[in-house]
Amino acid sequence: MTAISINPQTYRPAYPIWCAGCGHYGVQSALQAALRRIGIPDHEVMILAGIGCSGTIQNNLGTYGYHAQHGRVLPAATGVALSNPALTVVAAGGDGDGYAIGVGHLVHAFRRSTSLAYIVMNNETYGLTKGQHSPTRAVDLPSHVEAPLDAIVLGLSIGTTSFVARGYSGWFDQLVELTVQALTHARTKQGFAFLEVISPCVTYQDSYPRWEHALYNVDADPSYDPNDRAAAFELSTRLQAEGRLPAGLIYRAAPTPILNTSDPAHSEIEPANLIDRYHEIMDGYTVRADQL
Ligand code: SF4
Ligand code: MG
Repeated sequence: MTAISINPQTYRPAYPIWCAGCGHYGVQSALQAALRRIGIPDHEVMILAGIGCSGTIQNNLGTYGYHAQHGRVLPAATGVALSNPALTVVAAGGDGDGYAIGVGHLVHAFRRSTSLAYIVMNNETYGLTKGQHSPTRAVDLPSHVEAPLDAIVLGLSIGTTSFVARGYSGWFDQLVELTVQALTHARTKQGFAFLEVISPCVTYQDSYPRWEHALYNVDADPSYDPNDRAAAFELSTRLQAEGRLPAGLIYRAAPTPILNTSDPAHSEIEPANLIDRYHEIMDGYTVRADQL
C-alpha cells in the first residue's frame, strides 16, 4: 500500500458538515480508502461535485476540487478528463443533482464514455432542501404511480457503457472494493465508470432498515457473471418489479483500447500561431478614423 501525503499548507480539507449518521460519511471514507489503496497522490486527483448535501464532498479531501453548478458536474468533469488525462477524475453528487436536472448529461456521459468515475449518492430525497422527493423515489399518487428512476438500467441500455456498479454505505468493505474498481477503470482509460451508492438520508428519508433487506448482493452470488450485459439487465428489471435492487459489480465490459488520447493541458503550444491569430482577430475590431 502506498501512503498518500497531504500537505495541509497546500490543500486544506474541511470537516464534513453532514448530519450524524448520514450515509455520505461511508461514501467519503470509502473514497479515501480507495485512493490510498491504489496509491494515487493528491495532486493527480480532481474531485468535482454537484449541488446538494453530497456536493460538499470535494471540500473534505486534500485533492484538487471543483464545485460545479447544479446538475452540471458531468460536463465539467468531462472537460477536465479530456484536457488532462494524467488526472484521475472523480465526479460526485446526489440523485437529485444527477438524475433530475443533470440526467441529460448522464445519458451522454454513458454514450461518450470519457474515462472518469462518477459516484452518485442516492438517498431518494433532496436532503439539502429538506426532504422533497427525488427521481429515485416511487411516488404513489391518487391518480397514478410515478416509477423510480434506475440509473443502472439506464446505463445498461446504452451500448458504450462499460462499468456500472451499486454500493451501499452500510456495506463498507464492498463499497471500498467497488470504489477501487471504478477509479481503476477510469484511471486506466477504460471509459466511464458509474458507481451508484445507496446512501440514506437519516434526517428526511431514513431508508437504512429497508435497503438492508431489499438489496441483492451479486458479488456474493458465484453464478452471477458481471460480463453478461443481458443477464445484468434481466436481473435488474426482475428485482425492480419486486421493489428490490442489485448491488455489487453489476456490469463491466472487457477492457478496450485507450479511448482518450487528447491531452491539450500538456501539449506544446505554438505561440507564434496563437499570437498572430490573436492580432488578426483584434485588428478586425479596429475603428478607422473615416468610420467615426
Ligand atoms: Fe445527509 Fe440528509 Fe443530513 Fe443531508 S439532510 S447531511 S443527506 S442526513
Ligand atoms: Mg439526494
